[in-house]
Amino acid sequence: MSIQETELKPVAEIGSGLVRRFDFPDGKTRIFQISTFCPDIIGPGPTNVYLIENEALILVDVGIPTNMAKAFFYQWRNQAIPKEVEDLAPDHSERELIEGMDLIGRSLSDINQLVISHGHPDHFLMAHSILERTSASVSAHILESPQICNPWGILNMWISRQRQMFATGMPAPWSGSQSVREHLYRGLDLDSLGLSIKVDSPIFGDGPLKVGGMEINGVQVRHLPGHSPGSVGLIVGHEGGEKALICGDVLLNPITPHPDDLLVYLQTLEQLAAYEDIQLVLPAHGRKIVDLKARVGALSEHHRNRLRLTYEICSESRSVWDVATTKGYFDTYVNPAKFNFLAGMEALVHMELLSMVDGLERCHTRDGVHYFISCAKDFDEIYGRIRDLVTDNKYSAIMRY
Ligand SMILES: [Zn+2]
Repeated sequence: MSIQETELKPVAEIGSGLVRRFDFPDGKTRIFQISTFCPDIIGPGPTNVYLIENEALILVDVGIPTNMAKAFFYQWRNQAIPKEVEDLAPDHSERELIEGMDLIGRSLSDINQLVISHGHPDHFLMAHSILERTSASVSAHILESPQICNPWGILNMWISRQRQMFATGMPAPWSGSQSVREHLYRGLDLDSLGLSIKVDSPIFGDGPLKVGGMEINGVQVRHLPGHSPGSVGLIVGHEGGEKALICGDVLLNPITPHPDDLLVYLQTLEQLAAYEDIQLVLPAHGRKIVDLKARVGALSEHHRNRLRLTYEICSESRSVWDVATTKGYFDTYVNPAKFNFLAGMEALVHMELLSMVDGLERCHTRDGVHYFISCAKDFDEIYGRIRDLVTDNKYSAIMRY
């Protein structure tokens, strides 16, 4: 017997609105998937939220309110909003979640626990309004609290990166005549907007999920850092039976997650490769993964290839932005004249890891932009040093709570 999947509502034209049920062979455990609006191409695509139904009703992630998605993904990045997105109601994604729950005979007030996989805007920003209609308590890893619990957490994340972004050589997202504040406040009244929520039961590391102080049988938390410092996954299912991993953005399919620390991310992939008994992986964006080891292998290979390409591009001195905008570095075209945070960060984390093993060194700065050049050794030797760092990792063994 395996986990059975049933589609309850097809995907709408805008790309979200899908509702699916996964029935476990034990007859007691079910997972529901509801996809809520988040832009694709410019963003990661609809956010899949999951409801775990066993001894308790647990909601994993909530998605992003549509008005905030318009601000973060388009206005803050200085991108034109397509008409079909502009036309969406400000609470479109919220309605998708509520209608999805209606369809499965549940309401927000039935939720016992909300688990936030990580503190990125597309995963938790809707929580503020959702929590007004439920008495559910909230869990998230303690390392995500700077984003989740601080009213200015998302702005802090955005603004704290600006200095680093300028050093990469990337153009600013706003015009010279505009203040940062004017730029960020377009479309949103951030002074009166509730962005933060209180985390009632912080997660410190691996172990059973607790709801109201009680350990829930058949839901295990795993700390899977690297996409963000406090990303968590939930393993659903009982010992000896079928198991699913709800993984947030740690593994995605078909897109590849952006690491915020590539070394830590590769260590997490190593940890995931050792999981023996996961039959189904349910990511927060895109499609389900049925072969965990194959997906982990493909993501490791992807980063190896990108490290090699980064290293080769830096055979002559290059800034991070030069690398990110080299033709063929990404599948999609990155316009050198336009701010693109994720493209810049992706090149940056690869260059950081190469620098960590002396594969790259900073050769000069010009107009505040830093330039790097490779050490001209064989790439396989450099990659061997990276693999040594990835596998020489005491963290997983020590960080048991
Ligand atoms: Zn995400």
